[in-house]
Amino acid sequence: MLHECPCGSGEEYMQCCGRYIEGGARVPTAVALMRSRYTAYVLKNTDYIVATAVKKVDSAIIENAMREGDFYRLEIISCKRGGAMDKKGEVTFKAYYRTTEGEGVLHERSLFVNRRGKWLYDEEASIMENFKARE
Ligand SMILES: [Zn+2]
Repeated sequence: MLHECPCGSGEEYMQCCGRYIEGGARVPTAVALMRSRYTAYVLKNTDYIVATAVKKVDSAIIENAMREGDFYRLEIISCKRGGAMDKKGEVTFKAYYRTTEGEGVLHERSLFVNRRGKWLYDEEASIMENFKARE
């Protein structure tokens, strides 16, 4: 059983992203979805990643990406809209990861849509940086 949620909120997993990933609770905001998708990556929960995206994604592609590196820290930089009453949201984040070649950071602005009360990941608006350091 996980204690602290991997998303770094400081809350217990089942009080945080676990409610959505395992409990099936409704995700209230774009940021909450962003956090829970990050956590699903950390936990290698491909089904949750696929289920929370607008576009059909091949789970093999996600599993490959999961094998390449491990995320270890999430930083939410900013958020535009994305509240319970909004139809769209935009979240800018940095996700830090480790690979066998070293550490890297993915700095991305993602778009989210609210479909009748269900937040989904739409697409990346832009990737500012996806730096893979070499040791
Ligand atoms: Zn969390």
